[in-house]
Amino acid sequence: MRQKTAFFTLFIAVSLSLCFSLKAQKSTVVEGTNASAPNLIVITTDGLRWQELFNGMDFALANHKKFNHGDSAYLFKKYGAATVTERQTKLLPFITQTIGKKGLLFGNRFKENKVDVANPHWFSYPGYNEIFTGYPDSAINSNNYPPNPHKNVLAFLQQQKAYQNKVIAFGAWDAYNRILNEAASGFPVINGFENLLPILKDPQTKMLADMLQDSYKPFKEVECLDVFTHHQAKYYLETKRPKVMYISYGETDEWAHEGNYSAYLDAAHQVDAWVAAIWQWIQNTPGYKDNTYLLITTDHGRGFGEAWTDHGADVKGASSIWFGLMGPEKNSNLTSIVQAMQKNLGVKMSLGEQISNQQLYQKQLAATMAKLLGLEFTAAHPIGDAIY
Ligand SMILES: [Zn+2]
Repeated sequence: MRQKTAFFTLFIAVSLSLCFSLKAQKSTVVEGTNASAPNLIVITTDGLRWQELFNGMDFALANHKKFNHGDSAYLFKKYGAATVTERQTKLLPFITQTIGKKGLLFGNRFKENKVDVANPHWFSYPGYNEIFTGYPDSAINSNNYPPNPHKNVLAFLQQQKAYQNKVIAFGAWDAYNRILNEAASGFPVINGFENLLPILKDPQTKMLADMLQDSYKPFKEVECLDVFTHHQAKYYLETKRPKVMYISYGETDEWAHEGNYSAYLDAAHQVDAWVAAIWQWIQNTPGYKDNTYLLITTDHGRGFGEAWTDHGADVKGASSIWFGLMGPEKNSNLTSIVQAMQKNLGVKMSLGEQISNQQLYQKQLAATMAKLLGLEFTAAHPIGDAIY
């Protein structure tokens, strides 16, 4: 790759610049259209259990010698409290007290409000495939699966006039190039130890790239620490203003596999703070304020009790997940979603944490994302119905 002759390099450079100028002309036709089309931010945090989301820190796990790594006092001080609401507020204040009050939060099985994956595998690639394609294809049965043959909703949005060249994905895990099939999808997927220098060439991007490269790598070359994924994504949001952005955090799953309960809770708490910061930025930024939807979810559940560290088809309960939706303060259609859903269900619903007996599936999220933007997701494969 790096041993091209000077002539060949020049040839490539000239062809590329021709290519880019043609592209630039073409994209000026598209740009400026539908600037008012709603924006969408999708966030996932890998394998975060509904148990902690709806009940806060688990006292038995925090007390368990095998899982607390001698951090029991720290855990009880930071996340322990007598009531569910206090524990939720200490662990996940934004998701439970903002989305869980002003938005819609599904998956509280203590109240029989159920969300599950529809795929039979209960691990990551099948889960992310289901979230973004709406098709729980059982043939996708490995985290090493090749580039996804199914079209995802982000690629669909990238093909719509209002969103063309305004879509990007960031993931801590280096599998998203395949899961979202970057080559076929036509939008950038920045994952693992990739940096933004090919897109943004400024000192801040360079510093983030240098820090990412030199960072501690507890998950080896497969996954970076969430802090780098977050800050690259946030910086891109602030400077390039995408209309559709996906951010995938991975530490919640990694620390859980290691049986490190305090690191798992701290990772979840940090993700909550980052999502709050993004939402805060949205509320203060023209073009995003009152015009942006946020969807947050996870790829799979985990086991109960001592099996909390694990997931997969042989782990009871690992199909159970949750998701939350937040809409614009003004002109949001969350209220009409509630009305449509309660009509279907025949029960009374309101905004906030959902408490009615109900069953939803991960495969419904892709069509829901498009519908929030006023579009119908279509592809060559079957797609789960939107939630409303
Ligand atoms: Zn895992």
